[in-house]
Amino acid sequence: MPELDTLSTMTEALIDLDAIAYNTALLANVCRDAQLMAVVKANGFGHGTLEVARTALANGATWLGVTSQTEALALRRAGIDAPILMWLFGPNEDLSAAVRAGIDISVASVAHLDLVAEIALRSSIRAGIHLKIDTGLSRNGALPADWSALTHAARLLERAGLVRVNGLWSHFANAEDPADDYLHTQQSRFHDAIATAAAAGLSPKVCHLANSAAMLLAPGTHHDLTRAGLSLYGIEPVPGKTFGLRPAMTLRAQVIGIRRVSANTRVSYGSDYATARDTTLALVPLGFADGAPRVASGQAQALVHGVRCRIAGRIAMDQFVLDVGDLPVTPGDVVTLFGDGADGAPTALDWAKWAQTNPHEILTGIGSRVPRRFLPLRDVRQRWPGRLSL
Ligand SMILES: *Cc1c(COP(=O)(O)O)cnc(C)c1O
Repeated sequence: MPELDTLSTMTEALIDLDAIAYNTALLANVCRDAQLMAVVKANGFGHGTLEVARTALANGATWLGVTSQTEALALRRAGIDAPILMWLFGPNEDLSAAVRAGIDISVASVAHLDLVAEIALRSSIRAGIHLKIDTGLSRNGALPADWSALTHAARLLERAGLVRVNGLWSHFANAEDPADDYLHTQQSRFHDAIATAAAAGLSPKVCHLANSAAMLLAPGTHHDLTRAGLSLYGIEPVPGKTFGLRPAMTLRAQVIGIRRVSANTRVSYGSDYATARDTTLALVPLGFADGAPRVASGQAQALVHGVRCRIAGRIAMDQFVLDVGDLPVTPGDVVTLFGDGADGAPTALDWAKWAQTNPHEILTGIGSRVPRRFLPLRDVRQRWPGRLSL
């Protein structure tokens, strides 16, 4: 890491694009048998959509995945011409801009298909679609019972020149638990769905199923394309397993106030924390509006002067108090809430545990008030020979 001792803003999320590049190359190498989609929804899991997208595409990813049309169009407006898949839209949403921009649209029902075909007809542009089958997540794919009808309807519209079925896809429910055999159930349903689509005359360019955990744990799920979210950002997706990913985000803040207090001083709202002895309290201007979950109060820690200290009392909307004991902390000193863990600071996984959530929610919860600062890309090839085989 470069010079990190000072901060020019009260808070910052430092984004190490080199880590994104490294993780992309590592995943592309793991998935050599398939293409890699960088999932950059939700502001690139909080890291910055465009910066992550560009870095991933330069280091082995060939597809981008987002949820909404707005996100997809922002990528195109920035000049990114890689294949993009978007998968959520409203029942009456005007998708014509996405179709014109050559963005592939996920289609999970005949109603979706009709919506997209009508736009294609009006715009005189063939719409690229990926048919989605629900293999067990019970969220938004077509039910297996409706799949045959959907694939036949899509094939008809394909023959009519209105759509092109570029992909078939599904999503895992619990791939991060190697003990859960449900992955194999979903996998076999996906195989059936592919066979049904072939029987309907479809010949998609890509079939895709695997998310981060599946691509690392179950190579049999790779098909033609894998979709990396969490792992791209360097968070290990399988509890208890390490694949060598590098966390890309470091969340930091400056100390903006210091006070020396006596034992039994009550701290923050609700007064549910009292100092155990004479101590120093450091005020940190980052709160739950910035992504430090209030529910982590009482357990969460942050690093200052190389020492992990407890957050004293409740995390407030805009600030919290750190009990730093006798450390000679002064205003301007840097507090690390989470990072890659190498310096002893907590990680996003620690925060997820303290907040009883998953690391996805921690990363995407970092508020818009926190400036993102991007550490420039170095040459990953020097340290990741796998990149060369891409
Ligand atoms: C968010 C998302 C992903 C990424 O999942 P990870 O487990 O974070 O890799 C992949 N596919 C779909 C459909 C998603 O919504």
